Amino acid sequence: MRIVVALGGNALLRRGDRPDAAVQHANIRAAVAALAPLAARHEVVITHGNGPQVGLLALQNAADPALTRPYPFDVLGAETQGMIGYWLLQSLQNALPGRQVCALLNQTLVSAADPAFHDPTKFVGPVYAREEAERLAAERGWTIRQDGPHWRRVVPSPDPQRVVETRLIRLLLTSGAVAVCAGGGGVPVIRDEEGQLAGVEAVVDKDLTAALLAEALDADALLLLTDVPQVVRGYGTAQAEPIGHTTPARLRAEHFPSGSMGPKAEAACRFVELTGGTAAIGALDDAQALLDGTAGTIVTPSGHAPRGIEDPRNPTDTSRDQT
Ligand code: ADP
Ligand code: MG
Repeated sequence: MRIVVALGGNALLRRGDRPDAAVQHANIRAAVAALAPLAARHEVVITHGNGPQVGLLALQNAADPALTRPYPFDVLGAETQGMIGYWLLQSLQNALPGRQVCALLNQTLVSAADPAFHDPTKFVGPVYAREEAERLAAERGWTIRQDGPHWRRVVPSPDPQRVVETRLIRLLLTSGAVAVCAGGGGVPVIRDEEGQLAGVEAVVDKDLTAALLAEALDADALLLLTDVPQVVRGYGTAQAEPIGHTTPARLRAEHFPSGSMGPKAEAACRFVELTGGTAAIGALDDAQALLDGTAGTIVTPSGHAPRGIEDPRNPTDTSRDQT
């Protein structure tokens, strides 16, 4: 099978964790321990988020008195691809001796006319109490939004159109390599009137880029791995109810926050609608179970659990009626 895996930036650096290198490196090793068995048996592309990391770099830049102005977000995105890509590369090489592993810098084409440039939604950096976030926003010209009980900075997140290096990634896969790529959704770029690529101030959503890449690479499955075990209907309410096996149409009928679960649901739906493949949203440690259809939220054209698998999360599951 060919599988595209998207690792949550928040699974690599949990909310409230100190952003120390050692903390992230340990989280990456745990992520690779969960992914190595998949990579050993399948063609695997690994993309990763960078929300917490790119926000941290932006803060460090803002605090550096030597700089006239902070580095733009395309450059910071490339820096996070280097840092997280390096950790993933080395951990994967250690876990998969003899296997070729590659971490690529990637660009993702977006449209300069994307309305997202006027409506920032993508959370970056640490969480703050409301007053602190409002003070920083006034001081530094940030846009802020509520993220659960906290407040965070947000930046524009235009829709990914095409991973520039798609053909190169396909080449790596067909030659047996594990490809770490499109980190942080890829460095956002536009093509100008001369056909030249140029970076833009944005952070592309890595889940949407993962779906785009999975479709372009003819992947069989898209795994969106995060810090919750599944998508929940009525999340955070007394009526909260996990969603097990479902269809794109049923998932689209729900409402999810645009800065977190929204893009994952959208990514899963797009991939399944376009390819008829399987997309799954769930916990990193459940990667294999997600592929087996025994954990997480599994999106398929039919919405049925595989034969012989009862879905305890979904009381309305009718998969056994099909046998
Ligand atoms: P990642 O770094 O993996 O992309 P996100 O924060 O973007 O992480 O998305 C995962 C988060 O989405 C979870 O930690 C959870 O708090 C939040 N979330 C919002 N709505 C839902 C929902 N309906 N079901 C499950 N999780 C949700
Ligand atoms: Mg996210």
